[in-house]
Amino acid sequence: MQLMSDEFYMAMALELAREAAAEGETPVGAVVVRKDGLIAGKGRNRREKNRNALCHAEIEAVNEACKTLGGWRLSGCTMYVTLEPCPMCAGAIINSRIDRVVYAAHDSKAGSAGSVVNLFGLGYNHKPQLETGVMHAESEALLKEFFETLRRKRKMFRTKLVEVKTAEQVKSVAALADEIWHEWFPGIISAEQIDYMVEKFQSEKAVTEQFEKGGYRYYLILKGSTYIGYTAIRGDSDGRLFLSKIYIKKEYRGNGYAREVFEFMKEYCRENGFKAIWLTVNKHNDHASAVYEKCGFRIVGEDVTDIGNGYVMDDYFFQLDV
Ligand SMILES: [Zn+2]
Repeated sequence: MQLMSDEFYMAMALELAREAAAEGETPVGAVVVRKDGLIAGKGRNRREKNRNALCHAEIEAVNEACKTLGGWRLSGCTMYVTLEPCPMCAGAIINSRIDRVVYAAHDSKAGSAGSVVNLFGLGYNHKPQLETGVMHAESEALLKEFFETLRRKRKMFRTKLVEVKTAEQVKSVAALADEIWHEWFPGIISAEQIDYMVEKFQSEKAVTEQFEKGGYRYYLILKGSTYIGYTAIRGDSDGRLFLSKIYIKKEYRGNGYAREVFEFMKEYCRENGFKAIWLTVNKHNDHASAVYEKCGFRIVGEDVTDIGNGYVMDDYFFQLDV
């Protein structure tokens, strides 16, 4: 074991930051190194994945280092971090008695090692030595690219999902269902079955019941000032999100609006801890199956469900892992 240069360990922290970015997390990575060169702890930002404000890179690295070294005192260690520590992490660094902090990019909004405040320069019982600017440009570029991509993605969306809460919105869903189902399903199921299903599942009363008592969430798909379709989801206890419905008016199909809804659902999964999206498609609904496959869904099963009145739903189960 041999102690390497600051750049060597910062490059390691940057690698962790890149891993975070690849998972949609703000790219921040941290490494705790003992003075003999032992890598005691590594960490990266996992705030989105763990849905926890405490899951910063430095906290993870300190946590791991305490385990590796068998105690809370990290004296003799240096913390390498790609972004200036926030007040929480600066506090963790002080509390763990880390000797030295080296960070790359400044954080004008939350940085507590010089930007907003310098907690290491106040009268606390421990004052780590501070060094800044090592691989500053690389870390800034990574952060900049991450936020630009995020902004681009957000801008790309042409539709918005409006959660259905009022009677007026329920009325819009029922009207869309009546229109779209009668246009879409002939040839797949009988006219009588369409009438039966619209009444049973998509009347104002049925929709209201589903979101008030059935654990469903309904959303209207809004483009400009027009509702062009609707979608409904339900969180299942097996950790999957059930995409119960997604219907788009005929004149708006084939423009990638369904894909926008899937992107929204993926984000919903990440934020709410669901690991996959699943849905059912009528076996004869070839066009819908093709759309789902194009968007990355794959068939994971099939089943025939009795929906009463002598009707059945003969479906494939599709799933998309998030
Ligand atoms: Zn922090």
